[in-house]
Amino acid sequence: MRLAELTTFHLGGPPQSLTPARTRGELIEFCRAHPLGLSTPSDTDVLFIGGGSNLLISDAGFDGHVCLVATTGVVVEETSETEAIVTVEAGENWDEIVALTLARGLSGLEALSGIPGSVGATPIQNVGAYGTEVGELIISIEVYDRIAGQVRTLTAAELEFGYRTSALKRAQQTSGMTQYLVLSVSFGLRRDAQSLPVRYAQLASALDLEIGQTAPASLVRDTVIALRKSKGMVLEEADHDTWSAGSFFTNPIVSDADVLPVEAPRYPVIDPLSGATIEGKTKTSAAWLIEHAGFSKGHSVGEGRASLSTKHTLALTNRGRASTEDVLELARTIVAGVEDKYAITLEPEPTLIACSL
Ligand SMILES: Cc1cc2nc3c(=O)[nH]c(=O)nc-3n(C[C@H](O)[C@H](O)[C@H](O)COP(=O)(O)OP(=O)(O)OC[C@H]3O[C@@H](n4cnc5c(N)ncnc54)[C@H](O)[C@@H]3O)c2cc1C
Repeated sequence: MRLAELTTFHLGGPPQSLTPARTRGELIEFCRAHPLGLSTPSDTDVLFIGGGSNLLISDAGFDGHVCLVATTGVVVEETSETEAIVTVEAGENWDEIVALTLARGLSGLEALSGIPGSVGATPIQNVGAYGTEVGELIISIEVYDRIAGQVRTLTAAELEFGYRTSALKRAQQTSGMTQYLVLSVSFGLRRDAQSLPVRYAQLASALDLEIGQTAPASLVRDTVIALRKSKGMVLEEADHDTWSAGSFFTNPIVSDADVLPVEAPRYPVIDPLSGATIEGKTKTSAAWLIEHAGFSKGHSVGEGRASLSTKHTLALTNRGRASTEDVLELARTIVAGVEDKYAITLEPEPTLIACSL
């Protein structure tokens, strides 16, 4: 088989082996069969896949062992009149869990509706959308520590969430190892049918609210999904605009706002734990930089095989016959164009496997 069958880009060559793990026991068994030692330079021979929605895998495939995280299970504990803790096994589908919590009268996750993938992957890059980041709602996660060979609990503080990153992602990037396999995630939610305060201007406007006001959480979910659909950000097999990894580039964060073009958007950078603005950091819009560097929606390479989404400049898409190399060529063209015009280097958001920009 080709890993293309497991990724939302529909790209990726074959693995050496593929092991679906439907229980914790099977996940841990896989880890024990493929140990990671402190002396191991990197574990280029193991790859965990959840929903495959944040992965770009080489056409040649992955010369190692893939474990498909497919565990299931949800426990809801009503801890007080106003609060509940929801603990979810890693392989559960993220959006189904968002829907389930709302149906149980629990709010908090509504702005994160419609995001593809598994629950276990959400803490890795601190998944975020429409003014909410998952790190704000996570209390703790359970992981299998592949070096210590034991299950551990990591608190939200230990996960050091940042914009599209966490201690897990940073460690993975620097060491090239997945030391911590996420087994489950515990979310602290409110027993309230009303949403969290809406923080995202476009969402507030679609709901006819001022920033900071609330609405029925289920209405926020429906509105987010409608907005996402209009941008090709909800998976739909027949729509090639969704054959992507969502946003391909992160929004650049700079320490000196003067390096940004005068007209470029500027946003504060928020600390997900405290909710406070981080002084001295400014975030700009990667989509704005791409558009103003001359790449419009639908811009393509490879005789149209890979292109920017026709609905959203930040998504690189496979139009049906693309190769991973086509997507990489498109990504390189965009990075070079933005660098030439603005001297800002865009960073990819998805995990690149056996390939690079
Ligand atoms: C149409 C579309 C829209 C999107 N919109 C958004 C959005 O609004 N906001 C956003 O933040 N992201 C978005 N994404 C990106 C993606 O959906 C999220 O990052 C999602 O959390 C990835 O989950 P996954 O299970 O598919 O991860 P995968 O793609 O399977 O894996 C991603 C990375 O996490 C690792 N991983 C997966 N599971 C585990 C585990 N249990 N333990 C340890 N490591 C693990 C993998 O090894 C890999 O490095 C979008 C993607 C698409 C295709």
